[in-house]
Amino acid sequence: MKRLLQLACIALICLSAAAPVAAQATTASHDRRIAITFDDLPWASLDPTTPRPAQGTVPPRITAEYARLLQAIEGAGTPAVGFVNSARLLVGGQPQADRTAMLDAWLDAGLELGNHTATHADLHAVGVQAYADDILACDRVLRPLLARRGHEPQWFRHPYLRTGHTLEDKAAMDVFLATHGYRIAPVTVTSSDWIWAAAYARALDSGDAATQAKLRAQYVPYLLRRVNYFEHRSIRLLGYALPQVMLLHANALNADTYPDFVAGLRARGYRFVSLDEALRDPAYRRADEFTGALGTSWIHRWAIAAGRSWKFYSGEPTSPKWVIDLAGVPTDSE
Ligand SMILES: [Zn+2]
Repeated sequence: MKRLLQLACIALICLSAAAPVAAQATTASHDRRIAITFDDLPWASLDPTTPRPAQGTVPPRITAEYARLLQAIEGAGTPAVGFVNSARLLVGGQPQADRTAMLDAWLDAGLELGNHTATHADLHAVGVQAYADDILACDRVLRPLLARRGHEPQWFRHPYLRTGHTLEDKAAMDVFLATHGYRIAPVTVTSSDWIWAAAYARALDSGDAATQAKLRAQYVPYLLRRVNYFEHRSIRLLGYALPQVMLLHANALNADTYPDFVAGLRARGYRFVSLDEALRDPAYRRADEFTGALGTSWIHRWAIAAGRSWKFYSGEPTSPKWVIDLAGVPTDSE
């Protein structure tokens, strides 16, 4: 018993001695930075492959939601890169002025645009040649849009974060992208924001204000937990808090929660930086040799390359079942 008490005391002393150090390590000693990116511009629900006739002009609800997103980003004062699927601008093969105007408004707000392929192509499904053609199709829309402001496209984001199912494909795409002046925009903070957004769209459709509020209230802590998770994985793998790159989608839920999300991260000591600044961190020079289909974080890709055991990846925050059920997506999508 005495021995047990001694051990307990030693443990308490150790804990009390370690606690201030641990607190310091999590609050003060890390330079927390994050770059925000939005995929599927101009709007995720504008179909890039088979535009419906009803989507000739942008529905007023989408116009209003898009305006709210832009206002939220501008109000928060954060940099952001939006990744465009140029086929979302088309109806019947023709670019629509109101959809192009959405991208102009993005640039007018001082935000950046990047290439996300024309049709949201899946490299693993279509192969290198068709994928390259789809990137060029988007480039033909993006380049003149940026040229009017004296800029050139420089960012590319892989749809589904699928970067090639063989090392040969990856190498071929790397050369292709570099030849056309593109830098790959990796993602370190992934989430299932699109599942939450699908649930939110349903609640908006049905006019269910209580569910909308519940989704907003639970979504922001979920996103913050995701950032926290990848911050800790970064510290575990690299020894420091990497400047993170977060992927969100252009949708109503993010439009309605972005100010709260930004406030939550600022309260945790995060600063919002450009994608260019984040990628200056040397970790982003690590090779990405991941060839799987899962759109996983680059931190996990580096961890796989470093041979980390399954324990490294455990504890990833998931979405609640009620959200997945409301979204109407298969439960294995998480
Ligand atoms: Zn996408």
